[in-house]
Amino acid sequence: MARVCIIGGGTAGEEVASETDMRGAHVTIVEKRHASEPPWRSWPELISRSPTKEGFLTRRRASSPNVLNAEACAAGTGYVALSGGDRLRFDSVIIATGVRFEAVTLLGLRRAGVFILDGAEKYVELRRVCASLDGAVVVGEGYRGLEVFDRLWSRGVKVRLIISYWQREPPSPLVLEVIEDVARENGAEIQTGDVSRVVGNGGVEAAVVNGSVVPCDAVVVTPPRAPNPARAAVKLSQAGAVEVDWGMRTSAPSLLAAGGCAELKGCAWGSGALNSEPCLSGRVAGSNCVGSGHAIGSTRVEEVRVLGLHWSRIGGRAARGAFDNQEETVSRRWGSECACSITHQRLSERVLRVECIQPSGSSPAGLPPLGADVTLEALAFGLGLSDISPISDTARLGLREWQKS
Ligand SMILES: Cc1cc2nc3c(=O)[nH]c(=O)nc-3n(C[C@H](O)[C@H](O)[C@H](O)COP(=O)(O)OP(=O)(O)OC[C@H]3O[C@@H](n4cnc5c(N)ncnc54)[C@H](O)[C@@H]3O)c2cc1C
Repeated sequence: MARVCIIGGGTAGEEVASETDMRGAHVTIVEKRHASEPPWRSWPELISRSPTKEGFLTRRRASSPNVLNAEACAAGTGYVALSGGDRLRFDSVIIATGVRFEAVTLLGLRRAGVFILDGAEKYVELRRVCASLDGAVVVGEGYRGLEVFDRLWSRGVKVRLIISYWQREPPSPLVLEVIEDVARENGAEIQTGDVSRVVGNGGVEAAVVNGSVVPCDAVVVTPPRAPNPARAAVKLSQAGAVEVDWGMRTSAPSLLAAGGCAELKGCAWGSGALNSEPCLSGRVAGSNCVGSGHAIGSTRVEEVRVLGLHWSRIGGRAARGAFDNQEETVSRRWGSECACSITHQRLSERVLRVECIQPSGSSPAGLPPLGADVTLEALAFGLGLSDISPISDTARLGLREWQKS
């Protein structure tokens, strides 16, 4: 029976465990946290409802003696060293140590009413005060910001979202325009920029947004994230993540990595960071550490639900290079709540990415099957659409424009 060690019992670690359990391995989890995460796939959900079930680690601890409350200080082929001094031997080791949040610099951030969202407990705290909030300013990363904005808005808080940057490729301008319009119709506001300081007498009374004073009683910050790999003799990427191939293997034999601490080597789609794909990368790592030959597939799928809309994108950005000017995008808006954008590369005649925003209610996207590349037939499924006509109509218009040019 293969002896497998997973360092980190978070989102990716959970998937690795279920995959390796299924394949009959003897699994040990090394996790430094004592408390377990609530069983939600997304922390913003904690703003809308309280967790009622137990998280993965709590369930795992109850059923298996092989969850060690310890910090791994080093890992290599065949071993994991714990900070207490023990050195344990395994056939395979998977590093799934996630991300860390970077420090936030903002004048006045120590005031009561400022929430830096760097852990599940901060989202729970936000839920507790939600009912008493009149107005909140949410500032920071775009995708996380949209989710937090949506959950606060659905709880009746008047929210203004300030997007300072996007940690991944931003949505196309037309998609953003739809979101901004729907927000305005609902009495909320979305703009790009920054908050330079929080002001108030004791608690929060206002935020200085792009130089203007905006009254509010809470400022919610979504901080930047960076990879947090366990120390190991493996090749790291420029961003400091563990470099992995499409099968989640690192440069050291029998040492794999998944989730936020890992990055795809030589990814054809710009950054290969796997922070937004902890589940899929965890499943691939889990199956490959016991001898399977799965790959993550070259197509990235992302989605966000906001203000009753469902935004999804399939594909990515081609690596920077000589053919940058060969990228062309055709975008169309279909009514007030729907837009579609298709980007292709003229030279290769390849569709690089398709994104769509529509009222939600369509079936959820789900994960593409292991090892599968998403083809055009799988596009509608991947994007979670019940109606694929905005894509086909946009493609037809794009084709006509292309033939004219
Ligand atoms: C239920 C759940 C919901 C989440 N929702 C969000 C969210 O909405 N927004 C967000 O930004 N992030 C969220 N996270 C964190 C999120 O999963 C990661 O940011 C990211 O998605 C990658 O997942 P991961 O498994 O790689 O990392 P994580 O889920 O963060 O798991 C990493 C685990 O490794 C452990 N660890 C780290 N270093 C060591 C070490 N040296 N030794 C032992 N253990 C170690 C950590 O304690 C942690 O439990 C969530 C995590 C969970 C579990």
